[in-house]
Amino acid sequence: MTQTSPSGRASAWLDHFGAALGRHDAAATAALFDADCYWRDLVAFTWNICTQEGQGAIEKMVQARGADVAASHFALEGEATEADGVVDAWFTFETRLARGRGHLRLKGTDQGDKGWTLLTTMTELKGFEEKTGTHRIKGAEHGVHPGRKSWLEERAHEQQTLGFSEQPYVVIVGGGQGGIVLGARLRRLGVPTIIIEKNAKPGDSWRNRYKSLCLHDPVWYDHLPYMPFPDDWPVFAPKDKIGDWLEMYTKIMELNYWGSTEAKKAHFDEATG
Ligand SMILES: Cc1cc2nc3c(=O)[nH]c(=O)nc-3n(C[C@H](O)[C@H](O)[C@H](O)COP(=O)(O)OP(=O)(O)OC[C@H]3O[C@@H](n4cnc5c(N)ncnc54)[C@H](O)[C@@H]3O)c2cc1C
Repeated sequence: MTQTSPSGRASAWLDHFGAALGRHDAAATAALFDADCYWRDLVAFTWNICTQEGQGAIEKMVQARGADVAASHFALEGEATEADGVVDAWFTFETRLARGRGHLRLKGTDQGDKGWTLLTTMTELKGFEEKTGTHRIKGAEHGVHPGRKSWLEERAHEQQTLGFSEQPYVVIVGGGQGGIVLGARLRRLGVPTIIIEKNAKPGDSWRNRYKSLCLHDPVWYDHLPYMPFPDDWPVFAPKDKIGDWLEMYTKIMELNYWGSTEAKKAHFDEATG
C-alpha cells in the first residue's frame, strides 16, 4: 500500500488526525481539514448529535472535548475508494469510554489531502458490550433443576412485574420507530425499559396514516438495528407492511411495550435526583 493509493492516503490522514488529537492540539486537528468541511458526530465525541461546520467550529469542539474523549486507535476498515478526486473510507476508533466507527471523505488539495466530511459514531461502551455472537447468552440450562422457569415463564414474569413491583430504569414516551429501536438497543444492554405508546399497537402510527402512504426512501436506507428487512421487500415499503414489521420487531426483540398508554406529565424529582 503506497501513500498514493486511496487506502494509503486515508490511513496517512487518520494517522495525522489521531496524533493531533493525542497531543490535544485542536489547531493542528482543525488544520487537517479543508476550509469547506463538516464533522458530524453521533455521541462519540460530544454525547450528542451535532455537526461542526468549518475549521473554527472543529477547533472549538476539539478544545472542549478532545482531552476528555481521548480518542485513539484510528484504523481503516476495509479498502478506501476514490472517485472524482475524493477519497472515501470507513474506519474504526476508540475513546476512553467507547468504541466507534466513522467515515471520512478526503479532498486532494495543493496543501495535500484535507478532510472534507468526517462522521464519528459511538458503537459500544467499553465494559457494556452487547452479548452477541460468541458472547451470546446460553439460553438453556441442561440437567435437572426443579422449579426451573422456561423462557416463556421468565418473560411473563418480567411483564407482570416491570412497572409494578420492579421499576424500570428508562421509560420511553412514544413507541413509534424511534422509541422502538431505542428500546431494542437498551434491551441488548440489559437496561430495564418500558415503552409507552398512546396507540393500541406497535406500528399503528404508520397504519393510521393515509391509505397510499409508503416509505419515501428506498427500503435499503430504512433498516432498523439488528434485523434488516428481507431483501425481496419492495423498494418503497407500504405503510401497513411497515406497521406489521414494527409490531413483529417489538415482539421478537422482547420489548416491554405498553400500548394504549399516554404520558400525561413528567417531572424531575429534585430530592432523589
Ligand atoms: C410521509 C412520510 C414518509 C416518510 N418516509 C420515510 C422514509 O422513507 N425513511 C425514513 O427513514 N423516514 C421516513 N419518514 C420519517 C419517519 O417516519 C420519522 O422520522 C419517524 O417515524 C420518526 O420516528 P419517531 O419514533 O421519532 O416518531 P413517530 O413515528 O411519530 O412516533 C412517535 C410516537 O409517539 C406516540 N406519542 C406521542 N405523544 C405521546 C404521549 N404523550 N404518550 C404516549 N405516546 C405518545 C405517537 O402515537 C407515536 O406513535 C417519513 C415520514 C412521513 C410522514
